[in-house]
Amino acid sequence: DPRLQGISDAIRVVPHFPKPGIMFNDITALLLRPGVFKDAVDMFVERYRGMGIAAVAGIEARGFIFGPAIALAIGAKFIPLRKPGKLPGEVISENYTLEYGTDCLEMHVGAVEPGDRVVVVDDLVATGGTLSAAIKLLERAAADVVECACLIGLPKFKGFPILLTWTQQPRLIGS
Ligand code: 5GP
Repeated sequence: DPRLQGISDAIRVVPHFPKPGIMFNDITALLLRPGVFKDAVDMFVERYRGMGIAAVAGIEARGFIFGPAIALAIGAKFIPLRKPGKLPGEVISENYTLEYGTDCLEMHVGAVEPGDRVVVVDDLVATGGTLSAAIKLLERAAADVVECACLIGLPKFKGFPILLTWTQQPRLIGS
């Protein structure tokens, strides 16, 4: 798909951010180019439209940029998966391990109905730890997690920002 190259080119790689040695994939550069931003959203929408998706669950914070656009276009609800202490209602939480330390995702009780078909959206998958925690959280609420969708996959595709899906193994959308 010719749109992939444009998406890849629009992601800025910033060396040594937020720490020395880290190559940070900055998607804010892509957001400044409405045509490319639209291409990225459209590619996910084309994949998930007509699949009976009840909800798009976005991971804080960059999943909140792409998730709602996809949800609106496919007629699904949007569920924010947030860092601890941000959601005002009753929540369920899932702790997970990062390279250094731990983190946690929370979801409002009742956001998902049992059996809801859900797509999880984030900007980037590295180890998959964050997406795994999101899947566990949703499955504890009896959701049916169909797929995870990210713009960028590391480390398998290191240096090649691309649009992909991830559940167990990263898989490219388009080619
Ligand atoms: P994982 O849990 O798969 O190891 O890491 C993925 C999470 O870290 C995502 O929520 C993603 O937003 C964040 N992340 C890690 N490295 C980068 C990066 O280089 N760029 C961006 N935009 N996000 C990153």
